[in-house]
Amino acid sequence: MACLFCKIASGEIPAEIIYQDDEMTAFRDIDPQAPTHILIIPSQHIETLNALDPSHAELIGNMTLAAARIAASEGIQQQGYRLVMNCNQDGGQTVFHLHMHLLGGRQMLWPPG
Ligand code: AMP
Ligand code: ZN
Repeated sequence: MACLFCKIASGEIPAEIIYQDDEMTAFRDIDPQAPTHILIIPSQHIETLNALDPSHAELIGNMTLAAARIAASEGIQQQGYRLVMNCNQDGGQTVFHLHMHLLGGRQMLWPPG
């Protein structure tokens, strides 16, 4: 298993894990771009958003629900936050295991860079 995020999900590589269940793992980004920067990844290896099909709908829904719960536990729910999924080169994706970025604790800019 060569994938970095698969190794984090399995515990082979350490990370600061915030939440884990059968279908997902949430952990702090190693290079945080905001006071709160957490990555939420599926346990199964899915490379990009382009690989999703309707069988993944519940998983992605549950990841989104987990993100909102984690935002609450991080104390940023009311102030606000941003959920981002980057896809391929133009999206700025660097790790090819699907992930959601949960960013908060500061004012986000729009348009994004
Ligand atoms: P992306 O550019 O959307 O593919 O995001 C990949 C993210 O993974 C970046 O924000 C990196 O800082 C983060 N990252 C890379 N390696 C690790 C690691 N070992 N532990 C935690 N986060 C990581
Ligand atoms: Zn993987």
